Amino acid sequence: MAMNRIQFQPGLSLPKFIDLYGTEQKCETALEQARWPGGFRCPRCQGKEYGLIHGRRHKRYQCRNCRHQATLTAGTILEATKLPLTTWFLAFYLVGQAKTGISSLALRRHLGVNYRTAWLVHNKIMQAMKERDGAYVLRGRVQVDDAYLGGERCGGKAGRGSENKLPIVAAVSLDESGHPRH
Ligand SMILES: [Zn+2]
Repeated sequence: MAMNRIQFQPGLSLPKFIDLYGTEQKCETALEQARWPGGFRCPRCQGKEYGLIHGRRHKRYQCRNCRHQATLTAGTILEATKLPLTTWFLAFYLVGQAKTGISSLALRRHLGVNYRTAWLVHNKIMQAMKERDGAYVLRGRVQVDDAYLGGERCGGKAGRGSENKLPIVAAVSLDESGHPRH
């Protein structure tokens, strides 16, 4: 499902992050703005009029036209989650800020959840990021290079033609000043 992404400004500090997304209410508002930037739109009939139903966990939006009930998280990786939104947002932040990646173990420690939960959250975020990256078409100045991975097996031919090595191609698009974009 198409959805505008929650995007944190680059280099967002932890105190600023907590200031912006430190409560359920603030996270809910951010999700609402990401989901319906121009105000509520019924996913079924595109109606704009709605009533709010306050559930135990998250509020639901009921379309006045077709009675369809929508939640902020339906159709996203947060769908049916039992975790507070603040935990998810902190996970987005930590995964997004970790330049060399973050382990599920580290995430478990930072989020204060059990390992299985941290692993699930981590994997859902990584999958979403992979799908987003997969949708990119590199534009502008693009540099391409080829390389070979592996070589752990013994024997066989050496060098580029070796059956032990996996050829890979990497490409990066650059901005005007030569910095990598995607
Ligand atoms: Zn509707």
